[in-house]
Amino acid sequence: MKSRQFILSLGIALILFVGIIDYVTGTELSISIFYLLPIALVTWFVGRKSGVIMSLAGVVVWYSVDFVAGHVYSHPAISYWNSLVQLSIFLVTVFILSALKTEYEKKTQLIDDLRKTEEALDQKARDLIRSNAELEQFAYIAAHDLRGPLIVVESYINKLHKRYIERLDQDAERFIGEAIDGIGRMKLLINDLLLYAKTGSQGKNFERVDCTDALERAIANLKVEIEGRNAVVTYDRLPSVIADDIQMVQLFQNLIGNGIKFCREGQPRIYISAEDNDTEWVFAIRDNGIGIAPEDRDRIFEIFKRLHRSADYSGTGIGLAICKKVIDRHRGRIWVESELGKGATFYFMIPKGLS
Ligand code: ADP
Repeated sequence: MKSRQFILSLGIALILFVGIIDYVTGTELSISIFYLLPIALVTWFVGRKSGVIMSLAGVVVWYSVDFVAGHVYSHPAISYWNSLVQLSIFLVTVFILSALKTEYEKKTQLIDDLRKTEEALDQKARDLIRSNAELEQFAYIAAHDLRGPLIVVESYINKLHKRYIERLDQDAERFIGEAIDGIGRMKLLINDLLLYAKTGSQGKNFERVDCTDALERAIANLKVEIEGRNAVVTYDRLPSVIADDIQMVQLFQNLIGNGIKFCREGQPRIYISAEDNDTEWVFAIRDNGIGIAPEDRDRIFEIFKRLHRSADYSGTGIGLAICKKVIDRHRGRIWVESELGKGATFYFMIPKGLS
C-alpha cells in the first residue's frame, strides 16, 4: 500500500517536473510525449484508476504551461482541441497498459500454478517411489522370513510320513499328502514373491544383450516343460538390446512357460519374433493356447490376478506382474492380443534409445 502511494507521489512529481521543462523550453521541444512516462508508471504499478487521474493531471499541467507561456493559437478553440487530443492519447495508453498488465498477471498466475502443480507432482512421484521401495522391501523380508518356518514344517511332515508310514491309515496318508502339496504351493508362492520383490530394485546393470541368446537360455530352462508337453518352440533371429540379461531370460521364460501351460489340447506351438519399429523393438510371443477374453487383457498383468483355478492350471499369478516390472524397468510396454480359444500373442516393446 505504502509503495503504491509512493509511486503515485513520484508520478505527480514527475509530471510537474516535465511541466517545468516544458515551460522552460517554451514548447520548442516536442516534450508532451514525456508526460506519458509518469502516467504509464502509475498505471502499471498502481492501477487504471490512478492512471486516469494522472492523465487528467497531465493534461491540466500541459494546458497550464501552454497558458502561462502565453502560447498563441490562431483560434482559442485549438487550445481546447489539443488538450482533448492529448487526453485521448493518455487515456488510450492507460487502457492498453492496464489490459496488458491484467494479461501479464494472468500469465504469471498461470505459471505460478503450473510450478506449484509440478512441485506437488514431483513430491507425489518421490513419495510413490519411496513407498514402492518400502513395500518391495517389506514383501522381500516377509517372504524371506516365511521360508525358514516353512522348511521346518516341511521337514517334520516328511519325517512324520517316513517314520509312521506303516501305521498310517488311508485318511492320514491323504491328509499328509495334502499338507505336502500345500507346502509345495506355498514354497512356489514365496519364491515368486521374492523374485517379484527383487525385480524392481535388485536388477543388474544394463548391458548389450543378444536376445536370441537370452531366448535360447530361457528355452533351455524350460526343457522339462517343453518335453513334458511335447511343445514346439520356434523363433526368428532376434536383435540385441541394452538390457538386464537375467531379466530378459526371465521375461522369455515366463511368457513361453505360460504359452505351454495355457494350452489345453494338442501340441503347444510357440513362435517368437521381433519387429523393427523405427524407435523401438517390438517382440512377439505367439501361442496356440486357450486365449484370453478381451476384458481380461489388462488385469492379467496385475499381481495375483489369475483367470483360472489352481486345480485347472497351476501358478501363483505373479509371472506376468514380474514381466511388467521388468519391462517398466526397461522403459518399455507389454500387452497382449488375443481371443478366447484362439491363442494369444504377448508383445513387449523396448525403446531403441536403450539399444
Ligand atoms: P500364473 O501363470 O502363475 O497363473 P501369470 O501372472 O503368469 O500367473 O498369468 C496370470 C494369468 O493370465 C494366468 O493365470 C492366466 O489366466 C492368464 N494367462 C497368462 N498367460 C496366458 C496365455 N499364454 N494364454 C492364456 N492365458 C494366459
